Amino acid sequence: MKKPHVVVLGGNFAGMGSAQKIREYAGNAVDITVIDRKDYLLFVPNIPNEVLENRDPQDSLKMDIPSTLKRDGINFIQAEVTGLDVDKKTVTYVPAERPGAEAHSMAYDYVVVAVGCRLAFDKIPGFAEYGDTVADFYHGNRLRAKLHNGGYKGGPIVIGSALWHQGDGAKDVKPYGTGSIPAALAACEGPTVEMALSMATWLQNHNMGDAKKITITTPAEVIAEDAGEKVVGTLLGAAGAMGFNYVNNTRDIVRLTETHIEFEGGQKIEAEIKVIFPDWEAYKFLQGLPISDNKGFVITDLLMRNPKYPEVFAAGDCAAVTVPKLGSIGHEECEIVGRQIAAAVGKMTPEKANTPLNPVVLCLGDMGNSKAFYIRSNSWFGGPTQELRFGRRNFFLKMRYRDLFFWGKGKTPSWGNKFATWLAEVLK
Ligand SMILES: Cc1cc2nc3c(=O)[nH]c(=O)nc-3n(C[C@H](O)[C@H](O)[C@H](O)COP(=O)(O)OP(=O)(O)OC[C@H]3O[C@@H](n4cnc5c(N)ncnc54)[C@H](O)[C@@H]3O)c2cc1C
Repeated sequence: MKKPHVVVLGGNFAGMGSAQKIREYAGNAVDITVIDRKDYLLFVPNIPNEVLENRDPQDSLKMDIPSTLKRDGINFIQAEVTGLDVDKKTVTYVPAERPGAEAHSMAYDYVVVAVGCRLAFDKIPGFAEYGDTVADFYHGNRLRAKLHNGGYKGGPIVIGSALWHQGDGAKDVKPYGTGSIPAALAACEGPTVEMALSMATWLQNHNMGDAKKITITTPAEVIAEDAGEKVVGTLLGAAGAMGFNYVNNTRDIVRLTETHIEFEGGQKIEAEIKVIFPDWEAYKFLQGLPISDNKGFVITDLLMRNPKYPEVFAAGDCAAVTVPKLGSIGHEECEIVGRQIAAAVGKMTPEKANTPLNPVVLCLGDMGNSKAFYIRSNSWFGGPTQELRFGRRNFFLKMRYRDLFFWGKGKTPSWGNKFATWLAEVLK
């Protein structure tokens, strides 16, 4: 008997996590293939710390995908996914090892779309010449060179996001029973807050100034609104006391020049360094599909399943319900996908599998000098929790999470979140 074939599109956090969870819960009842254009996992969250500490992030934040998946008997194909036909249940792809390869197609019984988003730096005029970011190794190393090799002359710094164009695909879902997935104007602002706080420490440690040199911007009414009003209020109070400048309601970034950043809202702010987080766009091959919303994000219910095509799942940043675009929400979704597919092939009871997504913003952000902030909040989605802590223990947690992730080859222990909550919130 041929086993059901699960094809997972994308092999970073959500793709690798979903594949591993499917194997854990469905066992050998399924064949699993993961397709990604690159053969390594890019561990994004710790890039800011490596950059400011002047270490090459490639040395510690890269994990080999094929050998990791092989441990669980999961096939890997290094290829560019070019199409998904949800009626014929096929995926088309072009092998990516060498340019010029021919296209192939592969049939699936279940598909998990976990391709993340396209970070649209190329839509910001002047970014190539005057912009910086920490979203990948290349840009991280470019900023590292500027900061540590004398390129930066000590001028003002702006850290902020472009406007995010969220789709309409999560309008009807109700997490926490009566909650919602709100409309957001920035895709993910934890990195903005993290970069601002840790950059201020870096300036002080290098006798180049302090928080007063930094302007934090947001396209929205308030920054990091997903963390909840109470948390944001405390964060803004602390940032104000440290001397940060703060500009909200900027709308989109219009252009970067050598000396300034200009916004749709009319603000023009002087900046030698501009650390930017762009629009998080859905990939072209997803746009216009019957499973996608008006911007190309994959529509799912809270069991991460497309309502019209029940053999199609999504996890991570490409799913319409993932707001903000945060790895910790993707992590919850991998667990759900694993259980759903196990139930679909008779390896788990529906009662055990059908726990819906109740998103939690869980964020550990570096502040420099071995300190970090910790946020655990679900109030934005209709939940009751808003926790914020500062201190060394949170930095320890951030670094040990990375260590555990690499040590466990992408699998973190089931007690990890409970331990983190205890260490950050309970232990006095
Ligand atoms: C600077 C920064 C800091 C962050 N810090 C945190 C943090 O502290 N905590 C947190 O929870 N989140 C954080 N995030 C968010 C987190 O990185 C993302 O939510 C997470 O990476 C999403 O995982 P994903 O697997 O859905 O998407 P991605 O990580 O984007 O992975 C998508 C994968 O799909 C592959 N792919 C895409 N298209 C194709 C195609 N057509 N064919 C083949 N392969 C394809 C890509 O190569 C990639 O490997 C941060 C983000 C940034 C930018």
